[in-house]
Amino acid sequence: MEDKVIIFDTTLRDGEQAPGASLSVAEKLEIARQLAVLGVDVIEAGFPVSSPAQFEATTRIAEQVKGPTICGLARTTEQDITSAGKALSPAKRRRIHTFIATSSIHMKHKLNKTEPEVLKMAVAAVKLARTFTDDVEFSPEDACRSEMPFLIEVLTAVIEAGATTLNIPDTVGYVLPYEYGRIIAELIAGVPGIDKTVISTHCHNDLGQAVANSLAGVRNGARQVECSVNGLGERAGNAALEEVVMAIHTRPDFFTKAAGKQLVTGINTKEIYRTSQLVSRLTGFVIQPNKAIVGANAFAHESGVHVDGVLKERKTYEIMTPETIGLSGSRMVLGRHTGRHGFSERCKKLGYKLSKDEMEQAYQKFLQVADKKKEVFDEDLVAIIDDEVRVVEHTFELEYMRVHIETGKSPEAAVKIKSKEGIKEAQAEGDGPVDAAYNAIREATGYSPDLESYSIRAVTSGKEALGEATVKIKTDPSTLSTTLKTGSLGAGSRTFVGRGISTDIIEASAKAYIDAINRMIARSGTDEEPSVKAEL
Ligand SMILES: [Zn+2]
Repeated sequence: MEDKVIIFDTTLRDGEQAPGASLSVAEKLEIARQLAVLGVDVIEAGFPVSSPAQFEATTRIAEQVKGPTICGLARTTEQDITSAGKALSPAKRRRIHTFIATSSIHMKHKLNKTEPEVLKMAVAAVKLARTFTDDVEFSPEDACRSEMPFLIEVLTAVIEAGATTLNIPDTVGYVLPYEYGRIIAELIAGVPGIDKTVISTHCHNDLGQAVANSLAGVRNGARQVECSVNGLGERAGNAALEEVVMAIHTRPDFFTKAAGKQLVTGINTKEIYRTSQLVSRLTGFVIQPNKAIVGANAFAHESGVHVDGVLKERKTYEIMTPETIGLSGSRMVLGRHTGRHGFSERCKKLGYKLSKDEMEQAYQKFLQVADKKKEVFDEDLVAIIDDEVRVVEHTFELEYMRVHIETGKSPEAAVKIKSKEGIKEAQAEGDGPVDAAYNAIREATGYSPDLESYSIRAVTSGKEALGEATVKIKTDPSTLSTTLKTGSLGAGSRTFVGRGISTDIIEASAKAYIDAINRMIARSGTDEEPSVKAEL
């Protein structure tokens, strides 16, 4: 006997609202495709009314991503729900998710509405949403700080109006697991007709309890968990999908005891690692090494005693195997003598479907790397393909770079940057070699966005490892007026992520900065920051 927990992924909606995580429509589509491969049941694709880009991303995911139900978020207004209904219309299975705050503090200070007014709006919204689809989810925003009698009244009314999923958000990440579990149990006992609906969790991580709260909800009868890859989300984030799924997967005994049958999810756990890496790369949110499940150290047994134990019997210290989340136990090594066939087979094994041109481009990059680095691992191949092949149009390309460092002198850098207009050279000094290189790039390209963050990591270990640099740049239209046509990027400042790889970290850093500038140019004028945000 099995009982399914629906995995509702909100990486593209709540996750994308994390400051600095903004994704292009193409990047969202790529993540949505991978989420379908991962096996999530519902993809919350966006908040269609909030901007033209959000609407487009939702529509394109609805058109092109098969398998999961595609969901769009809407406040209770007619405009929001109509917009979501339209954006979702191409989807075979579609869901409208509508929400309104029910806590006294939100109703009074944010909405300026009374309880009867909020109740009326919730019911009207659900009824209108049902004219677009039979699958309607309702969220009483800030549910965990709402008065229980009013919460029960609203939920009873929206069930009568046709809501099929009831989501109980801990919007501000305030409650603790015992309390959250009790809220779910009280609602199940107190709301007439709730047994015909699915109860959902949506927990924020402000106190580090998002996953624990979600699991407490499941233990008490919730059968949908809203979560995001790598725990991405507003502020401290949302419940991490990989942690929720692996907890249910690893501890069926615990959940079976409460449910009377074995709880399962539809997730193909072997796709977890790949999905996590993809989201990290596209958002520029580096995963901390000690992150549960997907961090670099999550399966590393370094202590001598542990290693000895693991070698004798894996279960001594390993509660999950790396293979379960798709980390291959044996690492394939390629080298400069690997032919095109072997290379393309390996790419396919890693899950890439590349066009002939992309494959050739990837192979040439691979040969360059293999020249400098004798052994090329799977992680290197992933970095080569994601960072060098699947990129936006190259407005600028690094043709040549020289950096000079001398004790007692400012570092100097010289670059040659290729563009449609030909090759531009520039030289500059800086506080450090990377700073000097960036100053030279600014001069040669004519763009000088502020550097918001910079990080570098080794893709694999060893002294010849590939270095991967990730930068975030921030455009400030007021300082960009001379270089970028003001207005084409919208009124507010925007963040763009760039990545670069090389066996040389300064070159990787330069490539990352140029990549970020290319992304900024590619997106100028195409999408503006959403005008409204959904704080759910
Ligand atoms: Zn949220």
